[in-house]
Amino acid sequence: MHDIVIRGGTIVDGTGAPASQGDVAIDGDRIVQVGGKSGPGRREVKADGRLVTPGWVDVHTHYDGQATWDPVLAPSSWHGATTIVFGNCGVGFAPVRRQHHKALIDLMEGVEDIPGIVLSEGLKWDWESFPDYLEALSRLPRTIDVAAQVAHHPLRVYVMGERAIAREQATAEDIEAMGRLTEEALKAGAVGFTTSRSDQHKTLAGDLVPGRYAEHEELIAIGKAMGRAGRGTFGMLSDFEDEASEFRWMRQVAKDSGRPVWFLLTDRSYDPERWRRLMNGVRSARADKLPLYAQVAGRPVGLTLGLGTSLNPFALREAFAEAAKLPRSRRAGTACTRWASCRTTSRRRSAASPPWRRARA
Ligand SMILES: [Zn+2]
Repeated sequence: MHDIVIRGGTIVDGTGAPASQGDVAIDGDRIVQVGGKSGPGRREVKADGRLVTPGWVDVHTHYDGQATWDPVLAPSSWHGATTIVFGNCGVGFAPVRRQHHKALIDLMEGVEDIPGIVLSEGLKWDWESFPDYLEALSRLPRTIDVAAQVAHHPLRVYVMGERAIAREQATAEDIEAMGRLTEEALKAGAVGFTTSRSDQHKTLAGDLVPGRYAEHEELIAIGKAMGRAGRGTFGMLSDFEDEASEFRWMRQVAKDSGRPVWFLLTDRSYDPERWRRLMNGVRSARADKLPLYAQVAGRPVGLTLGLGTSLNPFALREAFAEAAKLPRSRRAGTACTRWASCRTTSRRRSAASPPWRRARA
């Protein structure tokens, strides 16, 4: 007698094997049978006409805050994700000193549109170091598994303070400290490190993120620290203004660390060849035996649009700039009366600066 039998579903086992009809049996915390006809179970789940699959690992989320107070992590858990990875795009909440709590909330709100009020109310900040943060995460019971990455921006602010917020260059001591803290975090259980080098990512006040122009030397040193720890992946998001230069340092990180290096591969409708060039960069690195990967979203990235969020259908129009300064309750009326002029100005500017160019990833 098995503990659980999921009976008669269409099994897609994730190996690439063709789908097949059959049962899945579970004893304790182990799957003991996949496919074929299973014996009786203490609990039986009828799965006729349904897919039975392994859980999804969502490798790109921003649950850094929510994971510290929410055991359910909806909507990801509702959609079949059984493991989520956060600390992406260089944003996160550890390591951190008390005086930078607000700066990190503003950063997350600016970059990911997670309302600051939710984070201020929800975050307990009972950690300073990254290992402390992992400890805080492990105190909560969980519906699904979580994995955290070291995010470059908080790490930089922790080491360099206001100099990081002003996007100054890191000194040799700063770089040494960032490497040491990354190694410590990985050894404590972090699954990677991420950074972002994009103008699409801004703080709430509209400033570029602390690591936007970090020197290649800094990134390479952090990569070496990952090599010393012998674990984790190195991820990044870039505008790729200088593709050759970005590939040079990513290749160097992959070579020195021996760790997988990945970047977010996004399309730009104004430059349809871009993704092909970037994929060629990946292919040539792989031909040289370097572990470089492109991370691609399984479906288009969704955005929440509204008059109270950082993007809405008017947000990139010149005439909306005036309405954007008003309290939210008055924005709607102003946006409507301005609609006629919005259309003319947007047509004029679209040739020089297509609005999607500035849409965030
Ligand atoms: Zn992201």
